[in-house]
Amino acid sequence: MPTTATTLPLLLEEVEVRRVERLSPSFVRLELGSPALADLGVDGPWWDQRFKLIVPHAPGASVPSFAGADESWFSTWLERPVEERGVMRTYTVREVRGTGADTRIVVDIVLHADGEAGPGAAWAGRAVVGDRAVVLAPRRGAPFGGIEFLPDAARRVLLVGDETAVPAITSILAQLPADAEGAAFLEVPLAADVQPVVHPEGVTVTWLPRERAELGSLLHPAVLECLGLGPEALAETAVTDDEVDPDLWETPTYSSSGEAVLDPVDLGEPVDVRDGLYLWIAGESRMVTGLRRALVKDHGFDRRQVAFMGYWRHGVAMKS
Ligand SMILES: Cc1cc2nc3c(=O)[nH]c(=O)nc-3n(C[C@H](O)[C@H](O)[C@H](O)COP(=O)(O)OP(=O)(O)OC[C@H]3O[C@@H](n4cnc5c(N)ncnc54)[C@H](O)[C@@H]3O)c2cc1C
Repeated sequence: MPTTATTLPLLLEEVEVRRVERLSPSFVRLELGSPALADLGVDGPWWDQRFKLIVPHAPGASVPSFAGADESWFSTWLERPVEERGVMRTYTVREVRGTGADTRIVVDIVLHADGEAGPGAAWAGRAVVGDRAVVLAPRRGAPFGGIEFLPDAARRVLLVGDETAVPAITSILAQLPADAEGAAFLEVPLAADVQPVVHPEGVTVTWLPRERAELGSLLHPAVLECLGLGPEALAETAVTDDEVDPDLWETPTYSSSGEAVLDPVDLGEPVDVRDGLYLWIAGESRMVTGLRRALVKDHGFDRRQVAFMGYWRHGVAMKS
């Protein structure tokens, strides 16, 4: 049953778990459906579209109702006690299946095999068909934001991520034009987490199972090597706690550290980027910080050709 006023320029809707598929030891795939998702949509490819999921704060608790919600829904929701409001987490639309009232959002959730399970991972890990959550997702025809993959005129793409970015990278790969060129590096906890991927022939896909190695320790050298930056940079990979910004988000149009960003009017302009390359890097903040330092500070890549996104921070729960 739709729960919100239809006047909101986004979908804030209760959904039901329609299908649960354990993809691998570290990933569970859920299909979330509601007749209200008939209005789900974006203007163009979904790329790395993010959305919010509100799940119960503990097993057996219910999800909040947003019936009659208006523009002040967020502050009203935040004022409720956590037992009532549940917790909000960010995920990626891996795929959209079905049409009309049978539209379903597919989400792949990491079960934190080598970390502490937060409420999002714990909910996904015990999810069964019929369970309820609330999604905050794009309404067709209304601007929503949440897509960071903006390669513009770049001739090649380099996609880099840990397990939390696997849904975004695999979604981007499946939607790239057939003549796209570049490479993707995906670091996952275990060899058993490697998934079949649809991708253009000209984009090579490399899986890097950590198998208990330190998080990000395989991605960093693989990316530098792929860019031909040589082993001298490998000695500089250690990132101190002080250097890690838990809210790290550096894209051409937004900077969590307050650096100058592009004026939106310049966004459509062709940019003569180094090597014709666009880099999209997401995952644990320390890993992303290390790559940002190596690529932008040490090797002078232009911020107009990179998106560095801290999807999560080891030891820090997401704010909601
Ligand atoms: C734009 C965007 C898109 C994202 N898409 C996805 C997606 O599609 N699938 C997905 O699984 N995640 C995705 N994430 C990451 C996800 O939002 C975080 O991992 C989030 O912290 C999970 O919430 P939680 O309630 O499970 O853990 P939290 O309550 O936030 O954290 C609890 C503890 O778990 C640890 N933790 C959090 N994530 C992990 C992890 N992956 N492995 C090990 N320990 C962890 C934290 O460090 C903390 O100590 C995305 C994040 C962003 C910003």
